[in-house]
Amino acid sequence: DDVASQIAAGEVVERPASVVKELLENSLDAGARSINIRIEGAGQRLIEVSDDGDGISQGELTLAVARHATSKLRTAEDLFHITTLGFRGEALASIASVSRFSITTRRTGAEVGSHIRVEGGAARPVEGAGGPEGTEVRVEDLFFNVPARLKFLKHDSTERGQIDGLVTRYALAYPQVRFQLWQDNRATLKTSGNGDRREILAQLYGIEIARQLLEVNSDEDGRHMNGFISPVALTRSNRRDITFFINGRWVQSVPLTTALVQAYHTLLMVGRFPLAVVFLNLPPEEVDVNVHPAKAEVRFREPERIFSLVQRGTRRALLAYSP
Ligand code: ADP
Ligand code: MG
Repeated sequence: DDVASQIAAGEVVERPASVVKELLENSLDAGARSINIRIEGAGQRLIEVSDDGDGISQGELTLAVARHATSKLRTAEDLFHITTLGFRGEALASIASVSRFSITTRRTGAEVGSHIRVEGGAARPVEGAGGPEGTEVRVEDLFFNVPARLKFLKHDSTERGQIDGLVTRYALAYPQVRFQLWQDNRATLKTSGNGDRREILAQLYGIEIARQLLEVNSDEDGRHMNGFISPVALTRSNRRDITFFINGRWVQSVPLTTALVQAYHTLLMVGRFPLAVVFLNLPPEEVDVNVHPAKAEVRFREPERIFSLVQRGTRRALLAYSP
């Protein structure tokens, strides 16, 4: 079973940033208003995510780190109406099988908290613990027992950059949540949680660019697009400066990016990329996020409708712009 969970882990946990993503999504699913992330050694030595969300009860803690245990899907039917970020119940088990892992948690209103430690997949008994309401997950020595994985990690600066990019995107998607990211005891991102996305964009891209960004807002039969795009294609940007969120989940979709870029190219110079942060809210049953646990891909029931929503929304924002 060790081998089975390490293989499953390979699917979910490619690199430190994928661990951060899973832990962040769990905190958001738990209704956190404030999330702290501490990274040491580019995530290899330590990834710690603490939140002020619902917490996990003592009785459910062992289950939370077991494979295919999720508290988020009750029926098969739920699979077509996913409203939480997680639903597979394999992230924590996978991460715990390739690290020295622990959770300290206290359920809202509970008198005491609890703690569990898992080392290379082997769970110790749950113990009582102090600590605030909410959950703290610590992942130490990632891939210590999978040397082959360690070899595939990129330079520390690349891994750190991936984590920065990821947390920043989630901070943008959830502006009403306070995010703090510390890399080797240096704060690399702090958001206020006051709901102001432009403030976060300013931290990210600088005040000058943030001020220029155009707001997109577009509605078509219950499908909604909003966000920010640059009025011009920027010389220094590339495909990665185009970010899409669907129903609060960061997705990477070449067709979506292409749809947006095409809308620019019918109006502007070809060959360059805009800066864009786009949030799509779609009826859950029109989106299949069940494609791959970590690759952040997505499938649509009616792709053409979504692409044209993106193109019309983009074009409208650009045409309304007068410098
Ligand atoms: P999934 O998110 O797909 O349900 P995970 O393996 O990521 O699966 O998490 C397993 C379970 O542990 C979740 O369903 C949830 O009940 C609990 N859990 C994990 N992280 C947190 C957290 N930060 N706060 C509260 N509960 C959590
Ligand atoms: Mg999860």
